[in-house]
Amino acid sequence: MPSSSTSAARVGAAQVTPPKSTAVRKSKKVATTTGASPQTIADAQPVFPFTAILGQEEMKRALLLNAVNPNIRGILVLGHRGTAKSTSIRALADVLPPITFVAECPYRCPPEKPAGLCDTCANAKPRAKLPTLVGRVPVVDLPLGATEDRLCGTLDIERALSQGQKAFEPGLLAKANRGFLYIDEVNLLEDHLVDVLLDSAAGGINIVEREGISIAHPAKFTLIGSGNPEEGELRPQLLDRFGLMAEIRTITDIDTRIDIVKRRLAFERDPVGFRAAYEPAQTELRTRLVNARDRLDAIDVPDNILRFIAKLCVALEVDGHRGEITLLNAALANAAFEGRESVTRDDISAVATLSLRHRLRKDPLDRTDGGEKIRWALEKLDKDVS
Ligand SMILES: [Zn+2]
Repeated sequence: MPSSSTSAARVGAAQVTPPKSTAVRKSKKVATTTGASPQTIADAQPVFPFTAILGQEEMKRALLLNAVNPNIRGILVLGHRGTAKSTSIRALADVLPPITFVAECPYRCPPEKPAGLCDTCANAKPRAKLPTLVGRVPVVDLPLGATEDRLCGTLDIERALSQGQKAFEPGLLAKANRGFLYIDEVNLLEDHLVDVLLDSAAGGINIVEREGISIAHPAKFTLIGSGNPEEGELRPQLLDRFGLMAEIRTITDIDTRIDIVKRRLAFERDPVGFRAAYEPAQTELRTRLVNARDRLDAIDVPDNILRFIAKLCVALEVDGHRGEITLLNAALANAAFEGRESVTRDDISAVATLSLRHRLRKDPLDRTDGGEKIRWALEKLDKDVS
């Protein structure tokens, strides 16, 4: 598993313009540079293929659903160390279609979009002529011990006042725009940083204010936190703000463990050959994700499904409406991924535990697993209906 510091640096490195593109940048006639860039970036850092990851189905499904529908608002992954969390996120980013972004923009603004751009890109005239690059969806690691400045960026007030301009040095939230921000051991992160992260992830914008000067920039990313519940409790109000919660466990099946190690070894010995072997499966998954994203807004939600979701949340005594909304968004993503035209009862079953288990009230005397309670509630509702 890559260490946090090198991974964070790698995101920066991924933005380095390949020589070919530098030439294109100077030429004002060529607006886009689709072509060699994604290959250049991908080949520099071979990523373990998503379709070669064994086990951890819950986490993988949660990642895929977030990729289909960003309104799900992130994932909290709870479980043991060394269970392919970081590998899986990088693998997911690798299987997603590359993004086109403004070459000079630290936030990788999408030039084709009319809204959600940084001030510089939004005011560029004509915007269609901005030089662009194509690259992999960014994955940014938040290192433990990172400061708020590192996360949000810094505003140099002296320079801003003396030179009459906003002197802003973007932070990790800028790098994560349009991608994933991964926090290992989120339960060890200071509360105020977690709040900043959750606010940005929810609003899609980062605002830095100092001495009456403020700057805002797009920071739309999927937040993925991981933690080991044995190493520190997570505040309930924090739990509730992650869309899904996936549990991962160390795999105890001997044959599966052997296969995991074999695949890892094969990848380390020959990453290019290993990736080539999985390319058909990767292409199939990529196509499925793209189709699911395209279809998402057209998926129908029948009234009886809305009623079922509401009844389920009432039966489980889930406070507020966030649980219901997340459950619906996850069910929509699941229906789209499965190629359905409307949300079905199967979609609810597939995502109910992921969407609700971290929103259940805690009874200190009750040792029942959250997933178990949700399954009982689903079965009971089914009996009532039939
Ligand atoms: Zn921009």
